[in-house]
Amino acid sequence: MSKWITVLGATGSIGSSTLDVIRRHPTRYRVYALTGFSRIQELVAAAIEFSSRYIVVPTDKAALEAKVLLNQTNHRSAIECSVLVGKDALAEVAAAKDVDMVMASIVGAAGLLPTLAAAKAGKRVLLANKEALVMAGPLFMQAIRDNGAELLPIDSEHNAIFQSLPANYSGGFSEHGIEKILLTASGGPFRNKTKLELTEVTPAQAVAHPNWSMGAKISVDSATLMNKGLELIEACFLFNCRADQVQIVVHPQSVIHSMVQYSDGSVIAELGQPDMRTPIAYGMAWPERIDAGVKHLDLFDIARLDFSEPDYETFPCLNLAKDAFVRGGIYPAVLNAANEIAVAAFLAEQISFLAIPELIGKVIQVCPEQDVTCLKDVLAADSWARELASSLLPSYLLDR
Ligand code: NAD
Ligand code: MG
Repeated sequence: MSKWITVLGATGSIGSSTLDVIRRHPTRYRVYALTGFSRIQELVAAAIEFSSRYIVVPTDKAALEAKVLLNQTNHRSAIECSVLVGKDALAEVAAAKDVDMVMASIVGAAGLLPTLAAAKAGKRVLLANKEALVMAGPLFMQAIRDNGAELLPIDSEHNAIFQSLPANYSGGFSEHGIEKILLTASGGPFRNKTKLELTEVTPAQAVAHPNWSMGAKISVDSATLMNKGLELIEACFLFNCRADQVQIVVHPQSVIHSMVQYSDGSVIAELGQPDMRTPIAYGMAWPERIDAGVKHLDLFDIARLDFSEPDYETFPCLNLAKDAFVRGGIYPAVLNAANEIAVAAFLAEQISFLAIPELIGKVIQVCPEQDVTCLKDVLAADSWARELASSLLPSYLLDR
């Protein structure tokens, strides 16, 4: 029987890789809904190709554009596709009764509510949107457990860790003989650069990742290493461990996607091409394996693998993230929100690359301690941090 899938963020990098996997298995998967924030033309084209029952767009204007495009074709799937608008509709198509799995691939905090809705509706959640977990880790994991949902990590590192953990892993390192997680990092485009060399880097240089092709925000996060910081938090929530049980290992070839070290001296790793279709297909088909369209790994071609310690001095985002997780409460949500504001300002050429960690550090520094007891606490912390970070931007503005 076919499985019905909703793809949140279908027009993005992960979204289009997901559609590519679906395209290879037309009888196994059927598309329930596709959502997009922009690129409405591409969204409509995908809806027609995959006979999606719904598309979700952000505004009435975008809905009108989508309807005009759908009406231009008399293809049956265009006639049968309904256009929905707004944030509530995102949560509806994530939680709808007929849906079996949800690819959570909206970027940033905007993905939190629909991803949580999928968890609460007991779906298989394919989690690419790490920011949702960073913001609301304990609440999110609780929602997965309480509602019998399945959480399959799509982030390549976490997918590799998932594959390297015992199949019956239940959240305790010691009872499974696990010593630590070795979280690999490519080091990004600025690996081995000094702080001085980073003073004038541009958004174009920052988004040019050496190994992976990704959306702009995660590409900047990879350049500041905030991506690895967010992934450290993601790993701690997903696999129920402490920050000091996750060691970050710079591995520039991105062939080993992460590892688990056991007490008997074994280290289990997952290796592969840097192609997100592998973890996506893994999550969709788990526990089976399906063709992902990914070229085989040729070890002779790779020839060597290198490893080194990250440079915590030049890339302060790593420790900012680690500290935010250790302090707990609202700190991870505040870190994430401040980062989103800083990255957007950097991409808009308003602030420098090195101002990103400075701005985040400033917001964290003045953030009062507060526990998270419900979603409202997370959303309030997110808004507070966004407002504060935005109000601090003028003191970091670049001279023009
Ligand atoms: P992207 O920018 O290419 O795509 C983002 C998607 O989210 C698009 O469909 C966009 O329309 C939608 N979107 C953006 N803002 C929105 C909003 N306010 N409301 C609703 N939808 C909105 O990003 P991406 O690279 O595909 O990354 C998506 C997520 O997956 C991120 O959380 C990222 O950290 C994670 N991830 C990506 C990769 C990768 O290789 N690209 C790897 C691991 C994890
Ligand atoms: Mg990753």
